[in-house]
Amino acid sequence: MTHAVPLYRNHVLLLSQSFFIKDNRAELLLHAHKYDFDILFFDDVSRFVEVVAGDGGDNLYVIDLDALHNMQADMPDGRRTLMLGELLQRLPGDHSYVYLQSARQGSRFLLQQRLVDSHCLAYAEKPIPNDVFVDKLFKLFVQKKRGDLVRMVVLGEVPGLDDAALLARGVEVIRHPDATTLHLRVRELQPDLVLVTDSEYARTDAIVRVLQKNIEADPVREIALLQCRADTALTRRALADGFDAVLANCEHGLLEAQLVSRANKIRTNKDLIGKDRATGLLNKVGLQKKTQDLIRRAAQEGCPLAFGVLDIDKFKTINDTWGHHFGDIVIKRLSLILASHVSESDLLSRFGGEEFVVVFWNCTQEEGRRRLDAMRLAFGAIPFEVGPGDLRHFSFSGGVASYPECRSENELFLRADALLYAAKQGGRNQICAREPGRPRAAAL
Ligand code: GH3
Ligand code: MG
Ligand code: MG
Repeated sequence: MTHAVPLYRNHVLLLSQSFFIKDNRAELLLHAHKYDFDILFFDDVSRFVEVVAGDGGDNLYVIDLDALHNMQADMPDGRRTLMLGELLQRLPGDHSYVYLQSARQGSRFLLQQRLVDSHCLAYAEKPIPNDVFVDKLFKLFVQKKRGDLVRMVVLGEVPGLDDAALLARGVEVIRHPDATTLHLRVRELQPDLVLVTDSEYARTDAIVRVLQKNIEADPVREIALLQCRADTALTRRALADGFDAVLANCEHGLLEAQLVSRANKIRTNKDLIGKDRATGLLNKVGLQKKTQDLIRRAAQEGCPLAFGVLDIDKFKTINDTWGHHFGDIVIKRLSLILASHVSESDLLSRFGGEEFVVVFWNCTQEEGRRRLDAMRLAFGAIPFEVGPGDLRHFSFSGGVASYPECRSENELFLRADALLYAAKQGGRNQICAREPGRPRAAAL
């Protein structure tokens, strides 16, 4: 397989005793690749330390503590066993680490305490199944990533709230003055967090029920009460009414710190729910929400949108001939090609198995067809080495619909999918923007 672009965005550097890894290695890698990362194995402390020290810090560094025994540690006195303290001392202090320990080690609280105080990002206890371990590592990658802005709408006066400090830490603040129109603003802006002051809540206590009972309310969204005056009866009522959290407005800077920590949690949850693990692209859930946002913006700004659905041709044969893992790599390569052809304002989603959706912002149907066709050519040009010297090329078919001709996300999808079907019927490896035989609409 050619490797012009690295296939996996993230890496785990794993220091481990070779016998733990020998049997697990292939399976760990297989799981990791489904989560868009690769694992580099080390069984030599010095080499591990050297590579970690020169690493930018975007990767995860995992240390199996059993590696302390019987490994090449280059101890000056010729010992083969390294003490825990010696290992911890040698680890570069500007990175943090995931420690893998045995349950017996974990039961010793002093040891545990020492570990969590030693540049510890997380720890895990063995035995741990390979897929579970890889799933946890994936979650750590998600948490580490800075990710999208979290949008917060504030109802009521919050004197001294530091918008600039919040923005610098990934929280966008939007103020709304009126309780009776808050639900409309929330529908329009789809914020991740809504903060209501206690005086606004005291005036209009139905506000939280109106927001929470809407069947379309985003389940990840948090609605928090900002309590400026201590009043336990009010706190009790607020929680019963459906507030997710009660925050205290106390010393300067503390409210911002509370908001940032909630925002980080929300961002992680959103990523876990709305993104495909194997490619890091939006999944069906994430796409739906973002497409609705985009359609709303397109309506406001009077812009067209092109909505493309594409599906790899004869993918079942690819799987059956060269194996499922090879099929996964074809999907992964395609996702990288597609990602290199879209801009910040477009959307890209792995909608299902080998099916993808692209939404081009401010783009007509014809221009969308051209752009999708350029992606088709780029994917078709990739040589996949299926055996020594045996290079194959694969293809996909696609259909393109557009807004405002189709008005809703559902209509766009159905239309593009029908056109994808026409492309398959027409012989595959092509993009359709209208049904064969149907003339271009006069208005276009
Ligand atoms: P067509 O040209 O008509 O699209 O033919 P096809 O063989 O691609 O048909 P279809 O789209 O129905 O087949 C999709 C296959 O993709 C079925 C399923 O086994 C396989 N698949 C779905 N998700 C994955 C995945 O994540 N990895 C791999 N390797 N295969 C997958
Ligand atoms: Mg399919
Ligand atoms: Mg297919």
